[in-house]
Amino acid sequence: MTDSQTSRALRASADVVILGAGPAGLVLGNLLLAAGTDCVILERASPSRVRTRARAGFLAPNTVRILDGHGLADGLHRYGHPHAACEFRTQDGRFRLDYGALGQGGRHHVYPQQDLVTDLLRHYLGRGGRIRFRTEVLAVHDTDGTRPSVTARGPDGRTVRWTARYVAGCDGRRGAARRSLPADAVHHHDHGVTWLGLLAQAPPSLDAVGYAVHDRGFAGHMARTPEVTRYYLQWQRGTAADAWPEQRIWDELDIRMRAPEYGPLNRGALLERGLFDLSCDVAEPLRHGSLFLAGDAASVLAPAAAKGANLAVLEAEMLAEALVDALTRGDTGGLDTYSDRSLEHIWRAQEFTGWMTRLLHAPPDGDPGAGSFFQAARRRSRIASLRTSRSHQDWFADNYVGV
Ligand code: FAD
Repeated sequence: MTDSQTSRALRASADVVILGAGPAGLVLGNLLLAAGTDCVILERASPSRVRTRARAGFLAPNTVRILDGHGLADGLHRYGHPHAACEFRTQDGRFRLDYGALGQGGRHHVYPQQDLVTDLLRHYLGRGGRIRFRTEVLAVHDTDGTRPSVTARGPDGRTVRWTARYVAGCDGRRGAARRSLPADAVHHHDHGVTWLGLLAQAPPSLDAVGYAVHDRGFAGHMARTPEVTRYYLQWQRGTAADAWPEQRIWDELDIRMRAPEYGPLNRGALLERGLFDLSCDVAEPLRHGSLFLAGDAASVLAPAAAKGANLAVLEAEMLAEALVDALTRGDTGGLDTYSDRSLEHIWRAQEFTGWMTRLLHAPPDGDPGAGSFFQAARRRSRIASLRTSRSHQDWFADNYVGV
């Protein structure tokens, strides 16, 4: 944006300008409003897109605690259901881990992300929250001073310059907050694996998360609702998501999930297909002057361990508390430590997610370990340890549900 365009922009202000109405932005907005703090959410998508974007589904105990603590968990308790088991299927047989009875006994709640976001939006609007849909943030300015601002283009094509005391970047991996960071601020790692993610109009086929480790590649099964199930297939990187007809996808899922041995999969229409490169990153540090990052804008995790939405909610709570302290009492201690405190959780989640990714997949082509007998034997041994060692299972359970 040129200087003359900026000077022609309309002007508006809020104490906290939040970019993005995903789980991070909406939890943050709700908590700020509850504390009487002035804020606005700027969201690129339409309300219907925000309410229907199907992504996560497994919410950790800490996420439920936060939502409960702020009166945001009504839908989750009414329509979600607790979940506490996963099943591994390998060439050596299958085994089930009732992780709710292992370690500290944490369980997930299964509740589709789009339903959670719909609830959060309803509460936010009910509390009188300001939100601008179809409003794309173009840039974040002056975060090293005390009066940062963002420029955003609204649905009428006009640009508004929002001035703020603080800016919260909750606009995901490809949002404007990240674009405003120095070039070397985001640290990447590519696991070298791609998943085809599927949403099927079919009831779950097992009462556990299914992780199938197969010579042909990984396959996964995760319940979403009594009528809809998410499946994953490890996929050749570079192959289009629609390259296979539905029949072939179901046949491949049957093979990798070993349906002839362990029971058929409920088939149904494939509602959605998407490709996910299992790559991850961390934007360390999470603070740049008066700009703070949370959720996927702060860190993206491979979906193997279902951590992203849970971290987003945790960071939103920590950031909300710190912003309220700063704005109401002039106490900036929480903001000063926000980045370090969040990064402790993020790196622990990255470590566990990386471990799960290596457990579930053979080293990809091009990796020094690809095709190695030694690597394959180590992976089998790792799975055998998980099958037989109680202390390994306790460790797994605590990391699987923890953030
Ligand atoms: P988002 O949900 O991405 O929200 C960001 C918002 O910012 C969006 O609404 C976007 O439209 C908006 N935006 C972007 N750019 C701009 C801009 N320039 N201006 C204005 N607005 C902008 N996590 C789990 O914890 N458990 C799971 O089971 C799980 N399963 C997953 C399955 C899949 C297939 C995928 C893709 C992800 C999964 N995740 C899971 C991860 C989880 O969905 C994300 O980590 C979570 O959505 C992050 O929330 P967020 O609010 O940070 O970002």
